[in-house]
Amino acid sequence: MTFDADTKMQFLYSLRSKGVTDARVLTAMEQVDRADYVRGIFSERAYEDMPLPIACGQTISQPSVVGLMTQALGVNPRDKVLEIGTGSGYQAAILSKLARRVYTIDRYRSLVEKARAVFAQNQIANITTFTADGSYGLPDQAPFDRILLTAAAEDPPGPLLAQLRVGGIMVLPVGQSDAVQSLIRVTRLDTGYEYDELRAVRFVPLLEGLGKE
Ligand code: SAH
Repeated sequence: MTFDADTKMQFLYSLRSKGVTDARVLTAMEQVDRADYVRGIFSERAYEDMPLPIACGQTISQPSVVGLMTQALGVNPRDKVLEIGTGSGYQAAILSKLARRVYTIDRYRSLVEKARAVFAQNQIANITTFTADGSYGLPDQAPFDRILLTAAAEDPPGPLLAQLRVGGIMVLPVGQSDAVQSLIRVTRLDTGYEYDELRAVRFVPLLEGLGKE
């Protein structure tokens, strides 16, 4: 299956029917072929609205959830965005179409290397990748206009809250790994942080330290 005009139309229709309505987000998702990020036996199912397994026991998120999170993040063209949880690289590729620069971190070196190869193959030049524990963010590159976590934390990590610019937005799933989690949006104000609960979600947990692979 290829990301031809018919497949794109169906893919975009299914995103819209799940509430992804922001025109810039839909255009970005039309520009990124999910099959490039889902390899092996599951690539046949790249355009279905389902999470799918990738290497290292991780998953590429469901497209509609990627769309809703990206929409909630409200990315502007001049923004510097930090993503925690590179995984396949799919979410970072979509952010790269919406922002000036994207920094993405994963705790598995092998996932980061694969994602970097796909970015190069697709001539995406505004993503910088890191292998590290993303809970600590990237103090050297801070502050960020937008921060997105694609792994669930029990609470928003303190270093990430500190690295958010005043006026900036962070979107993340919070909750216990095997229970229902909520997607929340944190906005940094002059005087503190404002929290909104968006919807129930299910993500892999944010883990400490580096992965072995
Ligand atoms: N955004 C990804 C999906 C990510 S799945 C995509 O579009 O495909 C969640 C990812 O978070 C996994 O790859 C996992 O290794 C990573 N992760 C979990 N804890 C982490 C941490 N502390 N720092 C960085 N990455 C982490």
